Amino acid sequence: MEARKTPNWKTYLVFAFSTLIFLVLYLTPVESFAPFPVSLIQLLRAFFLMSALYILFEKLFPMEIYTKILLGLLLGALAGIIFQADIVEIKPVGTAFIRLIRMIIIPLVFASLLVGTASLGDPKKMGRIGIKTLVYYLAYTAFAILIGLVLANLIKPGTGLSGQAQAELLQNFGGELEAKVSGLAGQANTIDILLNIIPTNIFEGLTNSILLQIIFFAIFTGIALALMPGEKARPVLAFFESINEAMIRIVHMAIKIAPYGVFALIAAVVGSFGMEILLSLFKYTLVTIAGMIILNFTYPPVVKFFSGMSPMVFMKGIREPQLIAFSTSSSSATLPVTIEACTKKLGVPLKIAGFVLPIGATVNMNGTALYQGVSAVFIAQVYGIPLSIGDQLMIVLTATLASIGAPGAPMAGIMMLVIVLEQVGIPSEGIALLLGVERILDMFRTTLNITGDASAAVVIAASENELNPPNK
Ligand code: ASP
Repeated sequence: MEARKTPNWKTYLVFAFSTLIFLVLYLTPVESFAPFPVSLIQLLRAFFLMSALYILFEKLFPMEIYTKILLGLLLGALAGIIFQADIVEIKPVGTAFIRLIRMIIIPLVFASLLVGTASLGDPKKMGRIGIKTLVYYLAYTAFAILIGLVLANLIKPGTGLSGQAQAELLQNFGGELEAKVSGLAGQANTIDILLNIIPTNIFEGLTNSILLQIIFFAIFTGIALALMPGEKARPVLAFFESINEAMIRIVHMAIKIAPYGVFALIAAVVGSFGMEILLSLFKYTLVTIAGMIILNFTYPPVVKFFSGMSPMVFMKGIREPQLIAFSTSSSSATLPVTIEACTKKLGVPLKIAGFVLPIGATVNMNGTALYQGVSAVFIAQVYGIPLSIGDQLMIVLTATLASIGAPGAPMAGIMMLVIVLEQVGIPSEGIALLLGVERILDMFRTTLNITGDASAAVVIAASENELNPPNK
């Protein structure tokens, strides 16, 4: 990390100057600046407000990115309460941030799924263990999403906004309702929906962001590449590996500006709709965490049922990777500790742990999937968009695929949430609401993700009669 420079008096001066100017400009009615045009005043005050925020975050108190995002949320809410509808003019900063994220989704999903599938190797050679692993992973992921959907539908954390507020919110923040309506019109019945996953022209899928088609094509291409002789597949794989890497770098860049995007979007939302929306956000966070706690308690009985291992032994054995996952928010970074715990404490042979766990770190994300289920329903509730059973099934399908496509890295889940939202036509700007609580939810998600991986390692080892726990 760069050595921290102590800010000098000039920085304080510029900060004080920017703060003063934006306060004066916001607190004085715009008309009193005539003959200067209103739009010029709006532009100036937004500029000084963002400059003050920039100096505060980057120069005066350099802090960890997640702290900045959380502070962006709090200060944004505060600005919304103080300046009300006037603050809406800074929304373009937030919109730019969301567009930046959306820009990378398609290449990111395509490249990471293609590379991920190809790295699983020849499906024929993957054999029995591979099939069992995938079935366990997919089934548990779908189950986790169901827990999320049930909770969000029962508790309804996103309702409570008046009908008029929802209509306005949708008009101001949701550019995609039309897409939803036209999408639904085109998807008459279940057979058509399923058939429509197979693209007839992949470029049509790519240009129209039909993500399930893109995912389908990427998986098939990945399998085909795995079946080809190494030297023939290598150039294409290397190309997509590089694209994947480049997109992940753009994600990191986007995250750097997230605090400002979050500030702008939250300020605009709270400025127009008041505090009710924050109360909903609080409820949403509690519901998501409750869901993850429930999910956590499903693993010991499942492990006991399939392997006979005592719940105590399992929970104690995975305590260490759970703690690392909680503190790093990265399944991939936790992987070595997960392997160590499964082999040393739970008695999974290395040949099984070494296969099941690395795949699990990117493919199996139960916590992420649950989170996506709750989040999609929550955002739809906030916007007042009704979700049919078909929409919810679509969420199960896309969230399962999205959690497979997500790399085991911090904030991957929220990026992939955009896919889920777009697929069912929920405005993806909605993720702005969630960014402020992203860090804490990511910590929980990752913990659950690696617990799911470890449970698979134990269950699969037991099914192969190869489990040797130190004390069952
Ligand atoms: N951070 C999570 C993981 O590494 C992925 C996510 O963002 O949900 O498992």
